Amino acid sequence: MKNLLINDYNTGLDYDGIDGGRLAERLEAISKIGVLPTGGVSRPGFSQEEKLAKELVIGWMKEAGLTVETDAAGNVFGRLNGDDNSQSIASGSHVDTVPAGGNFDGVLGVLAALEVAEAWKVSGYTPKKSYEVVIFSDEEGARFSSGVFGSRSYMGFVDDELIASLKDNEGLNLEEVLEQYGSSLKEYKNIQQRDWTFFAEAHIEQGKLLEKNNLPVGIVNGIAGQAWLEVEFKGQAGHAGNTPMNDRQDALVAAGRFVSELENIPKIVSSTAVATVGKLAVSPNGANVIPESVKMIVDIRDIHEDTRDRLLELVTERAESIAKERNIGVTVSGTSRVKPVPVEEVYKQELHNILNDLNIEATELPSGAGHDSMNIGLELPVAMIFARSKDGISHNPKEWTSLNDCVMTVHVLKKFIEIQMNK
Ligand SMILES: [Zn+2]
Repeated sequence: MKNLLINDYNTGLDYDGIDGGRLAERLEAISKIGVLPTGGVSRPGFSQEEKLAKELVIGWMKEAGLTVETDAAGNVFGRLNGDDNSQSIASGSHVDTVPAGGNFDGVLGVLAALEVAEAWKVSGYTPKKSYEVVIFSDEEGARFSSGVFGSRSYMGFVDDELIASLKDNEGLNLEEVLEQYGSSLKEYKNIQQRDWTFFAEAHIEQGKLLEKNNLPVGIVNGIAGQAWLEVEFKGQAGHAGNTPMNDRQDALVAAGRFVSELENIPKIVSSTAVATVGKLAVSPNGANVIPESVKMIVDIRDIHEDTRDRLLELVTERAESIAKERNIGVTVSGTSRVKPVPVEEVYKQELHNILNDLNIEATELPSGAGHDSMNIGLELPVAMIFARSKDGISHNPKEWTSLNDCVMTVHVLKKFIEIQMNK
């Protein structure tokens, strides 16, 4: 992997103390932990593999002069004390993966944050505020089918009811998993937040927008909040042969119209909103029976809560009007709603300026997927930087980001964090 990374690397990017070779070596070292014979890696949350990857990074953190602490959720914090130690700026991501995942999702954000500290060490720069490099546990949620678990635990968002419901594939509950991991539920319930005033995360894009625009990095303008609507159209079953076309209450015809019209609704509220139907159940689902009911989940997201919620209303209205026109019933119910986290204007502007200075066209894009920043962002200001993903592929062994793009991401992150240090 290292050779592949180094092959097309432009060593001209090695400046300001940032070292592409070191980054490539570290990406390769982590890629060997949990490696699968079929390609890719598997490092589920709270597994030995995730722990080994953390221990490797902890070793590098210590070599870079950071003081390392771990909390009861296994989250790792490598701290560099600043001149004025009263508050700190944090950056990081995760090292766990989905089953048969790739080598950049999460890992790049951790190593980029560490590379910033390495670069400061080389140049002899001591930040004004303190700096923490963070590894969050179990971001992918592979352990408990409950995503961004480490950062949620860190923020204190995991309540007793959720704890009681958690079971992994082997039937272990949180207490048992924590004990296996070398922690305890008692300590877990006493996790304290640290003195951060800001959190920044670098991550691979997991989409194709940057590649399409031939850009190494992009500015995330917000992390979309997902909301689910369960929509059920209810008509009347009947014989496919004996019921005339003008005397039917076909739930699937209504649902089909709804799905195709849905495509045009998000742009009414904003350019970043999206809506998708990916799951649909037709009943009775017989080849010669007119469908009586169709139940579907509509996944709706946007980076602003007001436009996202407006979209929920418009989608509901459309479902109701289609049902009325076709003389069938419909029920719409909200099943889940996550708060979006927009990035504040001031941080986006700072990133625009940094990219302009680097002669990179500054482009904003939303994060459709959830990240650890989403949890931190509910209480603290956050920002995210995306690195170009080859073919937009992620959660897959084929995941790839060139070393040039990785290193450019580190440059942007470093300059951005330095701005926060001097505020
Ligand atoms: Zn990730």
